[in-house]
Amino acid sequence: MKLIFLGPPGAGKGTLALKAVEILKVEQISTGSIFRAAIAAKSPLGVKVKEIIDSGKLVDDDTTIALVKERLAMDDVQKGYILDGFPRTIVQAQALDTFSVVEKVINFDIPDSGVLERLGGRRVCRKCGYNFHLIFNKPAKENICDHCGGEIYTRDDDRPEAVQKRLEVYRKQTAPLIDFYRNRGLLQDIDARPMVDEIVVNFKKALGI
Ligand code: AMP
Repeated sequence: MKLIFLGPPGAGKGTLALKAVEILKVEQISTGSIFRAAIAAKSPLGVKVKEIIDSGKLVDDDTTIALVKERLAMDDVQKGYILDGFPRTIVQAQALDTFSVVEKVINFDIPDSGVLERLGGRRVCRKCGYNFHLIFNKPAKENICDHCGGEIYTRDDDRPEAVQKRLEVYRKQTAPLIDFYRNRGLLQDIDARPMVDEIVVNFKKALGI
């Protein structure tokens, strides 16, 4: 199945995607994770996007579209994928139409208060990218990833100034995608406020599986 996960930062898209890849046996493609890996590797792409991402703004459409186009041409995603964090603009959605046919868009519905609570406590593994939360999903050992033993850190763009910017960017540039996909009959809303296990149940219902 070819899916898009749409929603504000901190809505839990990445967390559900980790569960959904096991359920659907498809790959997760997270543009944010690809950019963070490029930054960690100090590759030309990483050097180009670091400041933009740390400030909470969007990477330019051309760079992002080229990256996803190349990824979606690979063998492992021909039967299905979960796009987590792409598209984030109408231009990106229109470009996606030219190289892939999306079957459903899951819209993560959550108020700003929920986003602020999630992002304020979010901690991420530097090595495997797994998301923890200081209150809702603590690692067993402080600052150490339960899954791979990697170091847990706070993303630069989860600092309060960057979070405000990301929410503003989401409202202006990404939220219009809700109507874009609703008008095509592809959108399924999902209440993103409960804990992940309940969201998994609702997700399966939304897909009719
Ligand atoms: P995320 O991990 O999805 O929250 O993404 C982290 C950051 O990566 C975003 O705040 C943007 O700066 C950048 N980014 C990720 N996906 C996109 C995209 N589709 N278009 C532009 N920038 C993106």
